[in-house]
Amino acid sequence: MELQLESIVLPGIDPVCPLMIAGPCSAETEEQVVSTAVELASVGVRIFRAGIWKPRTKPGGFEGIGSEGLGWLKRVKRETGMYTTIEVATRNHVFDALKAGIDILWMGARTVVNPFAVQEIADSLSGMDVPVLIKNPVNPDLELWIGAIERIYRAGIRRIGAVHRGFSSYENKGYRNTPHWQIPIELRRRIPNLPILCDPSHIAGNRELIHSLAQQAMDLKFDGLLIEVHCSPDKAWSDAKQQITPKQLKQLLDTLIIRDTDHPSEDLADLRNKIDGIDDQLLSLLASRMQVAEEIGRYKKANNMPVLQTTRYGQIIEQKSEMAKSMKLNPDFIKEIMKQIHEESVRRQMDIMNINQTENSK
Ligand code: PEP
Ligand code: MN
Repeated sequence: MELQLESIVLPGIDPVCPLMIAGPCSAETEEQVVSTAVELASVGVRIFRAGIWKPRTKPGGFEGIGSEGLGWLKRVKRETGMYTTIEVATRNHVFDALKAGIDILWMGARTVVNPFAVQEIADSLSGMDVPVLIKNPVNPDLELWIGAIERIYRAGIRRIGAVHRGFSSYENKGYRNTPHWQIPIELRRRIPNLPILCDPSHIAGNRELIHSLAQQAMDLKFDGLLIEVHCSPDKAWSDAKQQITPKQLKQLLDTLIIRDTDHPSEDLADLRNKIDGIDDQLLSLLASRMQVAEEIGRYKKANNMPVLQTTRYGQIIEQKSEMAKSMKLNPDFIKEIMKQIHEESVRRQMDIMNINQTENSK
């Protein structure tokens, strides 16, 4: 499905700079909202975020201030001139947000996993013209993410953006939500005109990692950042560890390197040619390997041997990852590639067994 999207950049915002959205995880008190907003406006932020209804993992915590906070955001708009954005998860949230003049809506990771919830929001947006940001679902499922984008698009919304906030993972690899950068990169390939923002706060889960994640996002040409900022982060009622002060945000923005040169030189063209040549060789080597795998498959069939020989598989993986180390290649990367290659070889050998079986049963 090809999406005819329109820019999410609102009037008065620099279209060239990365889009910057900042504000607290949750709106807690009128004072906290307004003082954070005033400080953010003074460092040049133009879009203010705050969660009004909070999807919390466990009951009993702070679940958001609710509609009362919408009045505080109106005050932020009036007093600072900033645009405002909040998370919506139900039809009523959408109605209340639009009635209160919220400028941008976002759908959270826990909503995007559920097509019923996404459809309910899409239906309530039908005929409206408001930018909608769609976070990735909690699980690393690109199709689910694209599905949510398509549902909102089909409701007639044309100003859509995606937000990469990392993915839940059983293994804790130092992040609250593992980045899996290849997923937003693939999203960009699938929907090239869709702006993609990065939310380093929810990927990191702690403020120390935010700068380097934001830099990585910029190096991958993300279109903007959504960062949690609080006037006193340590006292925050939700996500305290990952929030930073407006001053720290300013420091981050001042030191972020935006590499925006896009003039390929002859040197770069030569290097790219080299890469293309190597990729061609990789492909023809893979084709030869698959031919040999099929020959082995025919041999196994003729000699009544099973397709999978676990010891042999284990040996290949171990030997190649050892070899990888001596060639300065990442052994995990090589293991993953060998696993994929082996899987494809097994698939082909299974096909050979099946073809023969079908022929025998004729
Ligand atoms: C948030 O932005 O505060 C939030 C709840 O995010 P996510 O949906 O990414 O968990
Ligand atoms: Mn949060």
